[in-house]
Amino acid sequence: MKVKRIRFLSLAVTLFVALTMGVCAQTSAEIDTAVKAAYEKFKGLQEGKNADYIPALAKVDPNLFGIAVIGPDGKVYAAGDLTTEVSIQSISKVFTMALVMQQQGPDAIAENIGVDATGMRFNSIVSVEISKKLGGGPEMNALVNPGAITATSMVQGTTADDIWTKIMDCYDGFAGRRLTVLQDVYKSEADTNQRNQAIGMLMYAYGYIKENPLQATDIYTRQCSVGVNAKDLACMAATLAFGGKNPVTGKQVIDAKNVPYVLAVMATAGLYDDSGKWLYQTGLPAKSGVGGGIIAVVPGRFGIAVISPPLDDAGNSVRAQKAIAHIVDALKLNPYASKPK
Ligand code: GLU
Repeated sequence: MKVKRIRFLSLAVTLFVALTMGVCAQTSAEIDTAVKAAYEKFKGLQEGKNADYIPALAKVDPNLFGIAVIGPDGKVYAAGDLTTEVSIQSISKVFTMALVMQQQGPDAIAENIGVDATGMRFNSIVSVEISKKLGGGPEMNALVNPGAITATSMVQGTTADDIWTKIMDCYDGFAGRRLTVLQDVYKSEADTNQRNQAIGMLMYAYGYIKENPLQATDIYTRQCSVGVNAKDLACMAATLAFGGKNPVTGKQVIDAKNVPYVLAVMATAGLYDDSGKWLYQTGLPAKSGVGGGIIAVVPGRFGIAVISPPLDDAGNSVRAQKAIAHIVDALKLNPYASKPK
């Protein structure tokens, strides 16, 4: 009798958990099928072109294609290349912004940089001028270069090395392993980043960056050159999906209370000037980088990442966008698509 009651109770608990997680929680087989189907469907797609304004990026194999999805138990669902590293590029901006929020609170980002889409290119200088003219507070965000270089300048530390260590420790916590800089990419970008140096100086001239603008630009350039594979990126996305706690290592990397602010900026500005189109299609906060990676976050459910270097005109990986959208549709992950009860 007692055993029966315990069985009934555990069934009731399981049902409750399933219902509160959403009736459409998928089985491992369904997730695996969706990931593999996305890979098969788009592996032959020959659209887009590697970024070449940073010379080292033009040399990356355009056929590289890897997909990884990580759920609450840290299980990795994957297809394609999971080990080759590309430079994280703009995806790093998310995690430096998160670090600043962790050190100083989300208001520091909102007040000093802003949390609005600029509607302009990621390295627009005009957007800084317009924001300045509007006067009522910065109309930028930490995912475009002016805001991102400013966010890097806001990371607290005693020396440049100390600031760099704090950034790397934060990224490592999200990825669940020690990451390193791809030196060829760093050198290539450092040799050609005069526009970013100018942006850093302008942000200093206007008071957003308080000191050492060129140091901030150099550290920003280094953070963009950190090497990541598809699994690393999925782990970073999954840590955001689960309240700042890495589901693979179990480490709380940032406070859960900061995560909604990070995701909000990703939703408004994560895919350059095509952020609206992306949100319209998938409903998910995401971030792309010119190295060919895209991460997408399904809060409470999954971190998704795809690497494929050829980009469209807006600077977003063509295959990565399509593969993630395919998985989102297959597993019904758009959070705006709620069903009537
Ligand atoms: N390091 C790149 C830059 O500043 C990042 C651009 C990107 O990925 O969007 O130009």
